[in-house]
Amino acid sequence: MSQVNNSLSFANPHPANFNTLQKIGLAIIAIGLLAITFAWLNISLVSPAIYLYFMLGGFAIGGGLFFYGSYYDSPEGIKNNSNFFSSLTSRGALGWIAGIVITGFYLCLYFKDYTDKILQGNSLGGLIAMFDPISYLLRGRPSDQWFVYGSFYTLAVTIMGIKFIVKYRHNRYQQVRTISVMFFQLIFAWMLPGILLRLYNYEPYWSYFFPLDYDALFPSNLSYIASNGALGQFTIFWGLILAFIATPILTYFSGKRWYCSWVCGCGGLAETAGDPFRHLSDKSLKAWKIERWLIHSVLAAIIIITILLLVDVSLQGGLLGENLAKGLSRGYGLAIGSIFSGVVGVGFYPLLGSRVWCRFGCPMAAYMGIIQRFKSRFRITTNGAQCISCGNCSTYCEMGIDVRWYAQRNQNIVRASCVGCGVCSAVCPRGVLKLETGPETSKRTEIQMNAISFISADDVDVLS
Ligand code: SF4
Ligand code: SF4
Repeated sequence: MSQVNNSLSFANPHPANFNTLQKIGLAIIAIGLLAITFAWLNISLVSPAIYLYFMLGGFAIGGGLFFYGSYYDSPEGIKNNSNFFSSLTSRGALGWIAGIVITGFYLCLYFKDYTDKILQGNSLGGLIAMFDPISYLLRGRPSDQWFVYGSFYTLAVTIMGIKFIVKYRHNRYQQVRTISVMFFQLIFAWMLPGILLRLYNYEPYWSYFFPLDYDALFPSNLSYIASNGALGQFTIFWGLILAFIATPILTYFSGKRWYCSWVCGCGGLAETAGDPFRHLSDKSLKAWKIERWLIHSVLAAIIIITILLLVDVSLQGGLLGENLAKGLSRGYGLAIGSIFSGVVGVGFYPLLGSRVWCRFGCPMAAYMGIIQRFKSRFRITTNGAQCISCGNCSTYCEMGIDVRWYAQRNQNIVRASCVGCGVCSAVCPRGVLKLETGPETSKRTEIQMNAISFISADDVDVLS
């Protein structure tokens, strides 16, 4: 089944060739995609439940064959072959089509009332009916648009997570953290809320909290959660502890990676389904400047809005009034919660890379980033003397950090935006980069250490 490349070229002239197993896998995946399309368009060749089984079977069997065909006869080591040749992963026609389809799905999801009116019917009716069997099994009630979304999300994280584990199979850090994000998505963000909804008529999400869960402290939402008895009170308590005590402590000891790369669902999707697109992140200085302003503005906005709403309630509406209070909470929800995090954040994976939301918009990432930058023991150390300036680390940094710049100067990387995914270290052919937690160093000490290590021990050996 393995292919022999007879070319004498240094670069593979046929990078996009698929072997037989991969072709069979793709054909079976296409059946799953066809089932989704038929269900979505309400083409009733079979019952919605049969479409569901075709989709699940198509993705599981087809995906399994494709991944097996991709990696079974290749030695350990990370392969990113064809990334810059494939139309899907290099902003070609397939990339644009994927971006438009995913963005269209998100628009139908978040603006369903409008798309229903335009299409004069339930724009997601067929898809919602397709998920009824699972919804009854898990939640004891019919499916709805958000259950469809959560199920697709979990499916993508699970299937692409398995692919990620196989691709990075020689790297323990990548395997363990991927199992972790798959676990939190499957159990905490999908199964547990469904089971609790069935039992107590209330579905809490315990892996999201303020400020990412933007309305967690809005007065109207707090009173709704508290109305759900002991479960609601525990949810409020849990959210407060996680947001204001656990987050600073964990970020101090391990950097923001404990959440962004091990727990968060947004990060989970970016790391698994978004992995083929990670090299598309903008590495320019201009992008970095936009990133700093935008992400901290979003954090400031949600803190100010939350404080205003809480003060307004304590003054019995005397500060904002009903209309302004509703306008502020709904405005943030629409602009940031729906359009930025969903439509742009995921829909634009094939065009702007996998961490657009995490990098430019997530207030949780901004909050932890400030702690990581100024008060954390996490850093990426570099052994600059070994660096061959290949640039792999910068190319595959999904947060657009020019890792090579630091490696060439033998400098520790202490950046607010680094999510600690460890891929820069995994793809480095020389073992230059290490994710470490060491004693805290002040900015002054760091500058002094960098100055001392500008000529390293290895350089002296080479010179002597
Ligand atoms: S610098 Fe390395 S660990 Fe940090 S986000 Fe970039 S690739 Fe991940
Ligand atoms: S991947 Fe490693 S060798 Fe290549 S530029 Fe980065 S640090 Fe240097």
